[in-house]
Amino acid sequence: MTDILVAGETLVDFIPDAAGPLASVESFSRRAGGAPANVAVGLAHLDADVGFWTRLGGDPFAEFLAETLDDHGLPERFVERDPEAKTTLAFVSLGEDADREFSFYREDAADARMEVGGVSDDELADASWVHFDALSMDAEPSRSAVVDFAERAGDAGAVVSFDPNARPERWGEFTYADSVERGFGLADVVKATPEDLAEMGVEGDAPELAREICEHGPHTVIVTLGGEGAYAYATADAPWSEGRETEVRHDGYAVDPVDTTGAGDAFTAGAVRALSNGVGLEEALAFGNAVAATTTTAEGAMTALPTLSAVESFRAEREN
Ligand code: ATP
Repeated sequence: MTDILVAGETLVDFIPDAAGPLASVESFSRRAGGAPANVAVGLAHLDADVGFWTRLGGDPFAEFLAETLDDHGLPERFVERDPEAKTTLAFVSLGEDADREFSFYREDAADARMEVGGVSDDELADASWVHFDALSMDAEPSRSAVVDFAERAGDAGAVVSFDPNARPERWGEFTYADSVERGFGLADVVKATPEDLAEMGVEGDAPELAREICEHGPHTVIVTLGGEGAYAYATADAPWSEGRETEVRHDGYAVDPVDTTGAGDAFTAGAVRALSNGVGLEEALAFGNAVAATTTTAEGAMTALPTLSAVESFRAEREN
């Protein structure tokens, strides 16, 4: 029995050893990545009972990913192997303004071959929370696989959370906006950034964006705002609303960031951990911001995700 299930891709990020356009980068460092993988690892570090449903290829990069997921405490049970497939590779460039650009290599990508039914009805019935993101919706059969996963989990009574995760480089066969709207329709809780929404032509401040997303079905929307923390809106139907519309803002924690890669995924892990533990929206934002702020103080995404005790110490220092 696994309480929280995260579905989606894991891939290898190649991080440039120097800033500048991709054409000029000569050497890269290898890192395990993928937004859902980061969320799953983040939850494992926070002592959640979490499983990560993904599919790995048959190439040496898949061995590296399998070992990494295992080292971070994720059970093998939901990690599928597909000898015919290859690992998705993402080459990243860092602009002068710390903006990132991605170049994806996704031929025969293992994660895009995730199939409907990979997680059984019984396993979904045991889960109180499931999480997925739009990146698995850029190709078939993974698109149908995650849609079915979210639908069956919702029908079985789990809370379904969704991250639109804009990566304009990835969209071809399906459009980003169409996929994100589909995701909103399946989700109870959405975590998004203003940039994710601008990519689909939706503009506004955080309260406007959150209310707009709730029109598509979710009862709770969290908008993260980088160094300015996060905002959340929940309709009266949300389990943490106590029958009233709720609006919460947490300004985040001032840190000296070393690397903000994966901060959004760290926030998601923290907020899901908190809400699935039954705390209110305000505490969930504070906890998510603390997990994310701590992550930005170390290099890398997965390796920088803090343990529960590190987050507790960080908050104790800041709040007392
Ligand atoms: P990423 O794409 O880097 O994973 P994101 O764009 O999805 O992140 P952001 O809104 O930039 O999401 O950041 C997520 C959370 O990370 C914020 O809500 C905040 O808690 C934390 N964070 C990000 N940048 C900073 C910063 N400079 N200082 C403190 N906290 C930060």
